[in-house]
Amino acid sequence: MIRASTIADLHGSLAEARGHRVVIGFVPTMGALHRGHVSLVERARRDADLVVMSIFVNPRQFGPGEDFTRYPRPIKSDERIASECGVDVLFTPLTSQMYPAGPVVTISSGDVGARWDGKVRPGHFDGVLTVVAKLFNIVRPGFAVFGQKDLQQAALVSAMVRDIDMPLSVVVAPIVREADGLAMSSRNRFLTPVERLRALALSRALAAARSAYSDGQRDPRAIEAAGNAVLAGEPEVSVDYFAVVDRNTFESATGGPTEKWAAITAARVGKTRLIDNVLLSQADED
Ligand code: AMP
Repeated sequence: MIRASTIADLHGSLAEARGHRVVIGFVPTMGALHRGHVSLVERARRDADLVVMSIFVNPRQFGPGEDFTRYPRPIKSDERIASECGVDVLFTPLTSQMYPAGPVVTISSGDVGARWDGKVRPGHFDGVLTVVAKLFNIVRPGFAVFGQKDLQQAALVSAMVRDIDMPLSVVVAPIVREADGLAMSSRNRFLTPVERLRALALSRALAAARSAYSDGQRDPRAIEAAGNAVLAGEPEVSVDYFAVVDRNTFESATGGPTEKWAAITAARVGKTRLIDNVLLSQADED
């Protein structure tokens, strides 16, 4: 008889019993692939025998009036990019297959999912967690890679995996940026050249927060003021929030040297809503 007293031991024993030898690394996306997505695949390839990517524009994470219908779906070029960067299995389910019936059970993102982006987009993170949980059950990966670009999403997925003991680990990979600092996003293609320039205010505001922190500023409100001052210089950029938060709980930072801070921001530039963030305290301070 095999005895297991930890979940890791149990999984190890069960994997052996099942004869699993293949580590699956999973990269869930909504497509319109760019170098940010490619970096997640590269990260997955480091530890996986098989890399699975999903492309699914999940209707349940879009609110009424959001950009679900106009979200880009360049499936042919996505297939090419995915195959070139080393995806082994590309999963592109139809909505009717993902949601054959109305929802009875959904995943609640709780308090953390009601803050910041969750406040501006009610129900968004419940939709995200529900589809991610479904995809985990469908793909059954050993680990999944998410981008720091969607920091609140990454924190919530990590919390879901921890709280309900999903049998996989979550890897969070760094943000890939354009040369001028703009965080890569599938939505950047909506920006006109003028808006594209204005959008740089987000990464500049975050850089200002980062340098305030590096210069020793530890008052979170003062760091927010440094970021907001940059954003105020671009009146055409309509700011949803710029905040210094604990990167796990997404509570507004209140001080204290051991907090794991991030500066997060979201803003609309024309019709396009962009989000970005920067980690303030680095891993070696955590
Ligand atoms: P999306 O297709 O926008 O839903 O994103 C799919 C995954 O790619 C998520 O885990 C995102 O956080 C990640 N991602 C999006 N943009 C970037 C980026 N610029 N750098 C790194 N990862 C990203």
